[in-house]
Amino acid sequence: MSTTTEPARAQCRMTNAKGDRCTGEALDPDPKAIQVCQRHAAEVMALIADHRKRTRT
Ligand SMILES: [Zn+2]
Repeated sequence: MSTTTEPARAQCRMTNAKGDRCTGEALDPDPKAIQVCQRHAAEVMALIADHRKRTRT
């Protein structure tokens, strides 16, 4: 038992302003899930919260 089959790590799908792919590891490797890293997930959540604040008045 020398090798362990590690599941392929999913890479974050977000890109920066230059179009470079984010090197972060996706939180969920499931191809059906949204593949974003922890940082980008937090950014998206902040964006949603901010959007709700502006629209719910
Ligand atoms: Zn990312």
